[in-house]
Amino acid sequence: MKKLTINDSTTSWQLADKIREISGENINTCMQCGTCSAVCPMFQQSGSPPRLVMALAQLGLEDQLADQRIYKVCASCLYCGVRCPRGIDVPRVMEALRQITLRQNIDMIHPAQIPEADMRELPTIALVAAFRKLTA
Ligand code: SF4
Ligand code: SF4
Repeated sequence: MKKLTINDSTTSWQLADKIREISGENINTCMQCGTCSAVCPMFQQSGSPPRLVMALAQLGLEDQLADQRIYKVCASCLYCGVRCPRGIDVPRVMEALRQITLRQNIDMIHPAQIPEADMRELPTIALVAAFRKLTA
């Protein structure tokens, strides 16, 4: 997957600024307490803790950030944002990272790669929602 770059020489503060511009949230106030990871229902499934995403975004580590799955599978349940002691609306940060990815024309799911059995079993509305959320 491509980097989560804004331009060819993205710095950590540029990435943080872009996230703030899209989400309205200041990721630099995150103190890495891990509460968001502890309450996230998608953490186990994705193997990708929200706390780590916040740290990588703060540091501008785009390659490692692009490898994280949580902002691609985030269910927008809002639990992490409600529990964050720093008042960061974490779901909005996940949404901003998804938007930054899609704006680079990067698809996060590929219809041809969805197993045939899943295509038969999944409700149409789920597939449509996934395509709308995860394709550029
Ligand atoms: S709960 Fe808030 S302060 Fe704690 S790690 Fe998550 S984003 Fe950072
Ligand atoms: S909004 Fe997303 S990142 Fe936050 S707890 Fe829910 S699934 Fe996890």
